[in-house]
Amino acid sequence: FRVPAPYNEPMRAYAPGSAERAALSGEIERLRKERVDAPCVIGGQEVRTGEVFTARSPHDHTCELADVHAARQEEVEQAIDAAREAKAEWSRWSFAARAAVFLKAADLLSGPWRPTINGATILHQGKSVHQAEIEAVAEFADFLRFNVAFAQQLYEQQPYSPEGVWNRMEYRPLEGFVLAITPFNFTAIAGNLPTAPALMGNTVVWKPSEKQAYAAHFTMEMLRAAGLPDGVINLVHGDGALATDVATAHPELGGVHFTGSIDALRSIWKKVGAGIDHFSSFPRVVGESGGKDFVVAHPTADVPALVVALGRGAFEYQGQKCSAASRAYIPRSLWPEVRDGLADLARQAKASMGDVSDLSTFMGAVIDRAAFEKHRDAIEGMRADGAEIIAGGGTDETDGWFVDPTVIVTTDPQADTMQRELFGPILTVYVYDDPDWDDTLALVDRTSQYALTGAVFSQDRAAGYHALDQLRDAAGNIYLNDKPTGSVVGQQPFGGARMSGTNDKAGSLLNITRWTSARAIKENF
Ligand code: GLU
Repeated sequence: FRVPAPYNEPMRAYAPGSAERAALSGEIERLRKERVDAPCVIGGQEVRTGEVFTARSPHDHTCELADVHAARQEEVEQAIDAAREAKAEWSRWSFAARAAVFLKAADLLSGPWRPTINGATILHQGKSVHQAEIEAVAEFADFLRFNVAFAQQLYEQQPYSPEGVWNRMEYRPLEGFVLAITPFNFTAIAGNLPTAPALMGNTVVWKPSEKQAYAAHFTMEMLRAAGLPDGVINLVHGDGALATDVATAHPELGGVHFTGSIDALRSIWKKVGAGIDHFSSFPRVVGESGGKDFVVAHPTADVPALVVALGRGAFEYQGQKCSAASRAYIPRSLWPEVRDGLADLARQAKASMGDVSDLSTFMGAVIDRAAFEKHRDAIEGMRADGAEIIAGGGTDETDGWFVDPTVIVTTDPQADTMQRELFGPILTVYVYDDPDWDDTLALVDRTSQYALTGAVFSQDRAAGYHALDQLRDAAGNIYLNDKPTGSVVGQQPFGGARMSGTNDKAGSLLNITRWTSARAIKENF
């Protein structure tokens, strides 16, 4: 059989007066009013631990969405046992039967569950309607559908058999269970990290970020409605370090699928290393850990396109994408025009900064108090060091955690905000002298420990290709004449090199391959 051909889920515009807009607004209103009691889900059972934390809207201090039950050590242990128990049966399901669960989930997501998953992402993660639509619905559905196609591609990879022999490969799940630890910023990633290993016959303990627990709660309900059997994915809320400690103490940890901070990935890696004498296999660690993503403009760059890319790349979702543009290198000849354009754009973005559930909002609040304070301090630090702030720079915590879209200009290419990942709406610009193009490329390459995304703007193709070559190790995803955000599943497999992670490209055959342990069979006739 062949699985259905995958396609990118079309996005909805939510035009004023449309039925889709009314449905989404209605769902947002309903979600706002109904305070959810969100359990862990272990072996198909809802487990309420009584140790609750509150899920709130970042843009509205008064909006409390859910009481979420955090797992303690015993619940994480139960989740591991449930995953181990479910494995025997799930791993014997045919590929078609497993694929059907996730294909149906994609259809539920693009259909009846769309307003709920979208609304939850808007309210708890502080996304604008458009930002939620492109990932919590479209990208998530794309992961589900494309992964099925990648799995089929993998299963079809078979060795050569000479006469008298039949050689074949059987793509088995990993030994043991998989731990998925997922980030706040993308509902799609939170959904992809547990479902990709599960599709390949693994069973999973899933620990979503506390800052994304609300959409994760609905995602789990949707997967169950799609027919996911009990125990295949076990949802434990709460502390990631605790889940990692318990999972790495277990001899049957088979793999970790992670997206989050570099410190958390390092810590997971250390704990896996520390457990190496007691594991029954070498656990796969697949992780993405962040970026300090650049935009570098050649003197031939198309300025209007560059300005839009900088504004969208730096400020959409308040700069809280791993791929967000946060350092820019602009030639002096183009700077006056770029500067005016950027200042203008940042002003417009600020003007529409408000309640994200108002469907016309472009930007919302940053995720929490810690993020807010980090950004405020970084801006103040740069100001104190003499950097010029040409747009934004202000903050407001009255109703929510609002940070202005901010553009800082520095004469020091190694300044703090040129190097440190902030994960907020702050773009730092370094203006270079036009003849220094080559030196600037070298500077771009060596300024950051990360290598996630980057963008080169040049209308001179030879110069653009030269930059791609000079920057070959500086980004796992590089764009020529486009913003560095917004990878599309099936089009731009996503992942970074260097300290941005293991570069196992989410939404690709490479990633799917990591969740199998192949058995080679030789049969003599
Ligand atoms: N794939 C997303 C993009 O290209 C970023 C994912 C992330 O933040 O980890 O914008």
